[in-house]
Amino acid sequence: MKILQKGFNYSQDGPGNRLVYHLQGCNFACKWCSNADSIPLENPKAKDYSVEELFDEIMRSRMMFFDGGGVTFTGGEACLQGEELIELLQKLRENGIHTAIETNGSIPVLKKLCRFVDWLIVDFKHYDDTEHKKWVGVSNNNTKAFLSFVFAEKIPVHIRIPVVNGVNDNPQGFVDFFKSYDTYDADFEFLAYHEFGKDKWKGNYQIENGFVSPEKIKEFTDLFEKNGMKTVVT
Ligand code: SF4
Repeated sequence: MKILQKGFNYSQDGPGNRLVYHLQGCNFACKWCSNADSIPLENPKAKDYSVEELFDEIMRSRMMFFDGGGVTFTGGEACLQGEELIELLQKLRENGIHTAIETNGSIPVLKKLCRFVDWLIVDFKHYDDTEHKKWVGVSNNNTKAFLSFVFAEKIPVHIRIPVVNGVNDNPQGFVDFFKSYDTYDADFEFLAYHEFGKDKWKGNYQIENGFVSPEKIKEFTDLFEKNGMKTVVT
């Protein structure tokens, strides 16, 4: 498996203290991506590991998984390496390790993979397909289809919406999409735009004036809550 970087964080990508792996390669190209170096499928900085090597590393780290922690796979888009990831997730489940994945929800293998993961995080960028293609480069159809599947199957899911001024800052558009589903097992988190990864674009960064105010995030939170959807802050 191709891993770009790894490290611990606390309670950001799942509960407790977590070992987070960033897998190389993404099928989206979000113009605000803070991990632009993780988008190409090949990157000389990424290192190859076998499933066995990662499993051994995770098991050696298990004393660090305090407060309900574990391991999180993100990216890039982790599901591009889905079959190997499923193998690893199965081994971790057999050994009682809590697992999480953060995904853009667009890779078909995810329907199978999500059965082996304890904490599912799906990033949803835009409700409108034309706008999604404009800002992300591809259609949102697969992500919508996966979310529809998750809601129908009542799989607990954490949905993250990155809020970017002038791109997707209309909460009503998101609510109109979600309210046609039973979202009882979902919660929603709104991430204010930031520019922490701007340097990784090496001068090609194209978002201007993307910052949103705390009032805008509150507008999202209030409208979702008003429509019966749970919101969280991490
Ligand atoms: S889906 Fe995530 S990793 Fe892929 S381009 Fe978008 S923000 Fe970056």
